Formats: sequence, structure tokens, C-alpha cells
Amino acid sequence: MKRTTKARIWVAAFLLIIAAPIVILLLQPGVAGREFWRELSVALGFAGIALMGVQFIPTARLSFVANVFPVDALYTFHHRASIAGFMLALAHPLLLFAGDPNTLALLNVVTAPWRARAAVFAIAIFAILIVTSVWRERLKIGYEMWRAIHLLSAFFAAALVLFHMFRVNHYMAYPPQRIYWIIMGLVWLGSAVHVRLIRPLRLRSRPYRVVAIEPRRDDCWLLAIEPEGHDGLRFKAGQFAWLALEESPLDLQENPFSITSSAAAPRRLEFMIKEFGDFTSSLVSLRPGESVYVDGPYGTYDIDEIDAPGLALIAGGIGVTPIMSILRTMADRGDERPVVLFYANPDWESVNFRDELVTLQDRLTLQVVHVLEEPPDAWDGEEGFVTEEILDRHLPANRAELSYFICGPLPMIDAVSEAMRDLSLPLRQVHTEQFEMA
Ligand SMILES: Cc1cc2nc3c(=O)[nH]c(=O)nc-3n(C[C@H](O)[C@H](O)[C@H](O)COP(=O)(O)OP(=O)(O)OC[C@H]3O[C@@H](n4cnc5c(N)ncnc54)[C@H](O)[C@@H]3O)c2cc1C
Repeated sequence: MKRTTKARIWVAAFLLIIAAPIVILLLQPGVAGREFWRELSVALGFAGIALMGVQFIPTARLSFVANVFPVDALYTFHHRASIAGFMLALAHPLLLFAGDPNTLALLNVVTAPWRARAAVFAIAIFAILIVTSVWRERLKIGYEMWRAIHLLSAFFAAALVLFHMFRVNHYMAYPPQRIYWIIMGLVWLGSAVHVRLIRPLRLRSRPYRVVAIEPRRDDCWLLAIEPEGHDGLRFKAGQFAWLALEESPLDLQENPFSITSSAAAPRRLEFMIKEFGDFTSSLVSLRPGESVYVDGPYGTYDIDEIDAPGLALIAGGIGVTPIMSILRTMADRGDERPVVLFYANPDWESVNFRDELVTLQDRLTLQVVHVLEEPPDAWDGEEGFVTEEILDRHLPANRAELSYFICGPLPMIDAVSEAMRDLSLPLRQVHTEQFEMA
């Protein structure tokens, strides 16, 4: 089945899951006599919780989802849909208060019944979850701390919401509604068990051994690993994997990294790691022989599926890693499709893979356009950022038919996408990958 067809089926399934409790509500006998605003508030609450409730799907790394939608699209959807779900859920008490101001007394957690206390606590926890996600950097919350807050608060808020709904009972007394929310609760629990227990245990039984760790330019390190006692994994050029370290695959320390090696030689996996914070520092302190755990591959870009006469690849700094995998794979396979690579870096000293790119030009129909923010004195190449003018100067005449892959910091992806729009290039053929998920 084509990826676009799978994507449509997923979108339809999502809409169905979210609409189901409202449809059931409309079918529920005895609802007709109740006030409209009360029913509307319940419908909005159901829709909001259902929308928030399906949010584990985009981020649970389920291969049948992760291989259909690009990872940054999934995370963008997750961010926006969660906020929309929270707003809808919040409309439920607000409408109740507006329709009957006496219900404001339910906000007093000292005197209110447990069903109302659960709802108040759930909303407070959801609010914390959203605030810490949207303003994580401004609040100076470290990534691992944020992830722990995120997982725990989602779990407790979901439990409190279910408690609230079943305790109110008016709507849960109707079997279809009850069954829907029991299934939803079981799916939430199942996904938590799968993500936090089953998957880490499965990864533990498939370790990888470090075979090389070598310094490279710009605080980057080459990490090469090989499977130990198993066949390893097959991946597509440009995909990424989550790496976890030896101590415990059950902890929250697992971070995503693009595979830079060739998909034609999948046994040895290579990564280029830029030292950034805690996790990347621990990774680059590994020694040959030590173990690493690999969850992957993930990512949807597939050079074999692309029906384009050529590729345009645009990388910013460490964003070159998936692109190197694409180029190495194409070279190993003798892929003759023309490729133009725009490779942006702060200066010449920080350009990783620069010698290999020269040799790859002998093996591929490859044009490399280096773009340097601070070029050396005798530089006659492109300067500054990747702009509309630079793209226009180097893209071939059949630019509208090419397949584009952009990987780098978010501001670069936005600027390049804007430049492409100005050049009337088809954004449908553009695949982006950003290295920031939250
Ligand atoms: C799809 C993808 C592919 C990537 N490929 C590479 C690569 O090939 N080479 C490379 O050097 N870097 C890559 N990164 C970035 C890399 O994951 C982060 O730099 C690294 O996780 C930072 O962790 P830290 O603890 O060292 O730094 P921290 O200071 O803890 O984090 C720095 C930033 O990295 C991001 N980050 C941290 N932990 C995670 C996590 N568990 N999941 C997602 N994002 C996180 C956060 O935005 C954080 O603000 C990739 C990221 C993504 C999403």
C-alpha cells in the first residue's frame, strides 16, 4: 500500500476515534431532556480528552505510524493537537460554570466531591504539562527532567480524567460510552507498558558493541557500532535511531541520532555525534567494546520510493548526517541520478565530511555547494546563509521535478522553505527533518 494511502487511513481513523464519544453521546437515550449547554460542555470535554488521549500514538514510535509520517510532522501534530485537546477539555468546566454559577463551588477541592477534585487536579496537571512543554527552554528545564515530568503528568492526568468520568457516571452508564472509555483506558495503559517496559526489554536482548569512537571537526565524534549476537537492523538511507547507553535501557536516557553509514552495508552502523549536553557527552566517552542499545530505524524519507529525476539535499551543520547516508548509499548502489548538495556551516574548519564529499563526487553525479557564514580569505564559494539567490544559482533547470531533503536547525529549515516558496518550487516534494523535538 502506498504511504499516502496509509496516511489517509490513519487520518480517517484518528477523526473517527475523536468523533466516536460525541456520536455515542448523541445516541444516548434520555439525553434529550437535558439542557443544551450542559450536553455541549460534555461533548467538548469528551472530544478534548479523546484528542489528548490519542496523543501517545504519534510519539510512541510505533513503526506502523512512524514509517508513514515524517517525525517532525508527527511532533508538530502532537504539540498542536494536545493544546487544541486541552482547550476543548477546558471548555467543559467553563461552559458548566457559565450555565450554572453554583457549580463554581466544585472548584473548592476541600469541600468538593472526589469526582470534582479529580477533574480539578487533572486540569492543573494538564496545564503543567503544556506550560512545561511550550516554555521548556525559557523555564530552563533540562530535556530529561522535562521528559520525566511529561510522562508522569500524562499518566496521572489520564487516570484522574477516567476517575472523574466514571465517578460522574451519568454518561458512563450508557454501555457504548462505557466500553469506549474502558478501551481507551486499556490502550493508554498498554502503550505505557509497551513504551516503558516491553520495548526496553526487547532492546536489552539486542545489544550493539562500540567498534570505533573517533574525534571529528566541530566537537563531533564518529561512533561506529556492530550488533552483538544478532543480525542488526535494516534501514533506509536517511533514517535515524534512538540510542541508549549501557546502564539501563529502562531509564529515560535515549536520544535520537541519524545513521550516517550506507544502507547498502547495514551491519556496521555509524553515527556522527555533536557534543551538546549530558547524553552526547556520555556517548562520546564510550570506549570500544562497550554496549549501546538501538531502537530503530525511524523516518520516512526513502530514496527508492522517490520517483524524481534527481535530488536536492540541503544540510545545516550536523544536519548533514542523514544526507551522508543518502550519498554513501547512492554511491554504493551506483545510483546515477544527479544530486546537488547545499551544505551550510559557520566556517571551513567546522565542515565535517569535506574530504569524503570530494571523493563522492567521483562516484556520483554530485555537485556540492558549500555555504559558509564566515569564509576564509581566499574563498570564492557561497557566503552567508542558504538563500533564494544561492538556490537559484545552483539548482538545475528541472528543479521543479526534483525531490528535496532539508535537514538542519529549525530557523534554517524555515528560511529555506520560504526561499523555495519564492522560487515557486513544489513544497509537496520537500522532506524536512529537524533535530529538535521539544
Ligand atoms: C531525528 C533526529 C536526528 C538527530 N540526529 C542527530 C545526529 O545525527 N547527530 C547529532 O549530533 N545530533 C542529532 N540529533 C540531535 C540529538 O538528538 C541531540 O543533540 C541530543 O539528543 C542532545 O542530547 P544531550 O543530552 O547531549 O543535550 P541536551 O542539552 O540535553 O539537549 C540539547 C537539545 O537536544 C534535544 N534533545 C535532548 N534530548 C533529546 C531526546 N531524548 N529526544 C529528542 N531531542 C532531544 C532537545 O531539544 C535539547 O534542548 C538528532 C535529533 C533528531 C530529533
